[in-house]
Amino acid sequence: MFSLKEWQREHLRRQPFPAEWVPILERNVAHYHHLSPLEQQALQGHVQVFLHEKPFEGCGGLEITDEIRVTIAAEACLLLLGGASDGFPHCNRVLVYPGAFVSTVTRALPGGVLAKGELVRLGESWGWGNVVLSWDDALKGARALAGAHSVVLHEFAHQIDEENGAADGVPRLRGSRGVYATWASVMRQAFEQLSQEKAHPSFSKEVLDTYGATNPAEFFAVASETFFERPQALLAQHPQVYAQLKDFYRLDPLAWR
Ligand SMILES: [Zn+2]
Repeated sequence: MFSLKEWQREHLRRQPFPAEWVPILERNVAHYHHLSPLEQQALQGHVQVFLHEKPFEGCGGLEITDEIRVTIAAEACLLLLGGASDGFPHCNRVLVYPGAFVSTVTRALPGGVLAKGELVRLGESWGWGNVVLSWDDALKGARALAGAHSVVLHEFAHQIDEENGAADGVPRLRGSRGVYATWASVMRQAFEQLSQEKAHPSFSKEVLDTYGATNPAEFFAVASETFFERPQALLAQHPQVYAQLKDFYRLDPLAWR
């Protein structure tokens, strides 16, 4: 039986997709052109649900428009096409700055002293609550196919990772315990390889951005981004990582080329 939430979502998905939003998808979401008609329809349904459930807030003087909402929602919802997440349940709000923004971070120094500092960011994902994005970079990432960074895919991959309570690069997997053991072994090996590359960046031929060597959570977000943006290169260099992500997202972005 459908829950009330599922019933509401089904109702939203069945609403006609606003005609003026289609050119936004065509113009701004490079993947949209490569999806099958059924996938395009499914994406439109996810966008309608997303926009109903997640309020957007403009920051730094940015006025939120349909173009901003539809572009960001569609790029994020690419991650949902195979059913890897039930609509990003921990994301309550999307905050959007016009460009890169400054974020205050606190880190622990030796001796237990906490130091506050400022970092320039293109995006941020908070485990319970907000995803924060630079519109300039969100748009650039959504418009470009191969090679670009997609800050939206990256931050919403963090959301998916954190759905089981921890930002640890291990999302909720389907199947028995053995599935987790395989995931851990494949991802750890690729993470270690990337960490070595990070130490010698001038020789690096890595398809994965070495930012992914920061920690396992960043590795998952970077690998997810690459899986959607450069599937061919990821498959060639890290076939096992590709296979794990393909099973997890229940999608094969190579089919979209
Ligand atoms: Zn990240």
